[in-house]
Amino acid sequence: MISRSVVLLLAQCAFLLCPLRAQMTIRLVGTGGPELTPERAGIATLIQTPAVSLLFDAGRGVLDGLYKSRVRPQDVTRVFLTHLHNDHIEGLPTLWITPWFLLGRQTKLEIWGPPGTSAMIEGMRRMYAHDLKNRPNPVLKREYLDITVHEIALRSSPAIAYDVSGVKVTAFPVEHADGDPALGYRVDGSGRSVVLTGDTTYRDNIAALAKGVDVIISNVVAGTSEIEKSGAIDAIMAKLMRPEQAAALFHAAEPRMAVFSHVVKKHLPGSQGDQVILNRVRSAGYNGPLVMGLDRMTILVGASIEVLEPSDLATLPDFDWPDATF
Ligand SMILES: [Zn+2]
Repeated sequence: MISRSVVLLLAQCAFLLCPLRAQMTIRLVGTGGPELTPERAGIATLIQTPAVSLLFDAGRGVLDGLYKSRVRPQDVTRVFLTHLHNDHIEGLPTLWITPWFLLGRQTKLEIWGPPGTSAMIEGMRRMYAHDLKNRPNPVLKREYLDITVHEIALRSSPAIAYDVSGVKVTAFPVEHADGDPALGYRVDGSGRSVVLTGDTTYRDNIAALAKGVDVIISNVVAGTSEIEKSGAIDAIMAKLMRPEQAAALFHAAEPRMAVFSHVVKKHLPGSQGDQVILNRVRSAGYNGPLVMGLDRMTILVGASIEVLEPSDLATLPDFDWPDATF
């Protein structure tokens, strides 16, 4: 007789959660910028190898996004921040506390980020001082709310930020104006590689670091031609990646797959707006594999690269939540 856990595993494989086909799985948990849209939650990207799950940025809605992606939030305990703009960290408090008391997480968080991350985390501890003081009990231990912070101070060269169990994360400096110091990350593991640009305009060092990787995940910004010509969004355009700059990056780096996430659009709503961005990349001369990221899209990276569209939530089996301990 097949055990219940095997049945569950098979069911999960059928619902996209099985990494057996991939050496690396990329989950676009949230693909938006700071603006409110009905289409996209805040930026958050989960990269999974058989050894580890690493989250990059924790934007608005990250906990809901993990849940909707049917990833156990209590298993997401290693977080890499690209910079400290609020749209990259505003989901962090909920990811920190809720899986602890609701789902019984028994592991402290470990967070990597630019200089300033320790002070931000200290502020978060102060904001949630009531919970820290009053909520722990013999089951929900205070130590599981501890956070280890690793600040990554870079000058111009990249540096290895994490190297455990065959998975290596390299941080590199990027250029994001009032978001600096800002980082991009390259992840190598299981023979596969991904570069996340983070929020940045085009820089040659990104193309060099991303040369020949399996996947580049790039931010992108665009407005209608009228609004771009008006100069009204010049400051925003200057600190992010225009479609034409993304085309140059992809052309130089030649990834097996290029993906947009942290999609910032002005007056370009919905999938038609997304298509305008893709068209501009093509017009700028990049003809390689290119995907517009959507919330809950999954990318399986192995001998081939499979992009799985977000599934209909109504068809996904819900979690079997543990008994409440709070
Ligand atoms: Zn930013």
